[in-house]
Amino acid sequence: MTLLPRPAPRPVHKFGGASLTDGPAARRVGELLNARVADCPVAVVSAVEGVTSALDRVAHAAAEGRDELGPVRVRHRSLLAQLELDPEMLNRHFAELATILGAIRSRGALAAHERDHVLSFGERASARIVAAHLNARGLRAVPIDAYDLGLQSDSNHGRAKVLSQSAERVRSALARFDGIPVITGFLAADAHGRLTTLGRNGSDLSATLIGEAIGAREVCFWKEVGGVMTADPKLVPNARTLRALSYEEAGELTRHGAGVLHAESVQPLARSGIPGRVLCVRNPVDAGTLVSSTGSGAEAVGIACRRSVLLVRIAPESAETRAQVHGALARLALEPLHIASAAGELLVVTSSSEELPRELVGLGARVTIERELASVATVGSESPVLDAALHAAGVDVRARWRAGPPATRVHLLPAAQLALAARALHAAAFEIAVPPEPAR
Ligand code: ASP
Ligand code: MG
Repeated sequence: MTLLPRPAPRPVHKFGGASLTDGPAARRVGELLNARVADCPVAVVSAVEGVTSALDRVAHAAAEGRDELGPVRVRHRSLLAQLELDPEMLNRHFAELATILGAIRSRGALAAHERDHVLSFGERASARIVAAHLNARGLRAVPIDAYDLGLQSDSNHGRAKVLSQSAERVRSALARFDGIPVITGFLAADAHGRLTTLGRNGSDLSATLIGEAIGAREVCFWKEVGGVMTADPKLVPNARTLRALSYEEAGELTRHGAGVLHAESVQPLARSGIPGRVLCVRNPVDAGTLVSSTGSGAEAVGIACRRSVLLVRIAPESAETRAQVHGALARLALEPLHIASAAGELLVVTSSSEELPRELVGLGARVTIERELASVATVGSESPVLDAALHAAGVDVRARWRAGPPATRVHLLPAAQLALAARALHAAAFEIAVPPEPAR
């Protein structure tokens, strides 16, 4: 009996919308995959940059009776033309989309499942464009809708969770395709076959779930800026690229708002021990950031910010108000950033959305809401030096708490002071060398 060699684990390459924004960008994606074709890569793609938000506006406009699809269609036709592909290639998809929008217009209302259906066209279009471009370059590629591959989710439209039984289906379905599969990120379908979306920027999560399902060698996230940095360089000019992060460190950074990866996308990697790499499409030889079981080796890891959070105070705090708040959070499937008791009040910090305050109206308790706040988390450090640095910079800290692991200190402050606070914390945690102990 001859034993067939086991196929080597394949890498997953995920491309965000910015990597597909125009012809030259999409050609770079083609180059990158072409250079790696011997590894049997699996590609996962987002919608073309800006298209998901545009489709969201188109869906809402339809509910108000307006037809605003034109610019989205032109955007894709122009990308097809730039790639010298057939500009009529997506006509069937756009006809289907126009029919759905027509139904929304005539009813004058947009249901959550219809919104997901409309949003799905972004990824469905980009997967077809990328696959067609690869085929035109002489590579063999197939566009695949993730739900046809077996990615099944619950029915929580807009933030659906993928069910664990999807993995086996995805693994066996993918083994049947020859060539490079170009899979839609962001999308799944529920048990009734209705399309769902995994939450904004969910394609990173699609890539890691698919990577986990197939036992991938690694998952590469190709970004415009390669690597995870110690802070958002737009806020902190001295931020630098981190070369290595543990799953825990990367998970904590993204949980506190580091936008470089989707917050939940690290979990499938951590569960399966698959390395992730954040790489730069414009400079593919740069090693970027490796996310694996080996940590950064540094004590403080990075600063993650949320630009827009709400502080909700509920008084008086009692077992009853606590139960009501937890009930409201569960109904909204909202995970608070922080929840604590202080001076007879219950404090809840959430990402800015009016959903929670609306849900709490009629609670009987006194609810006060502070808006225009931001949070800054220093991941990997709880040093009191951080508090002192904010104090010295004159930052009006409204609340602080611990998070992690790894040890993390989170500060809540006025959104207008975000850059000031982020720079002060970065200087304290990453730029000032600790003076040596004085000789005795
Ligand atoms: N296209 C979706 C979004 O813009 C998913 C993604 O980009 O990852 O949110
Ligand atoms: Mg995107």
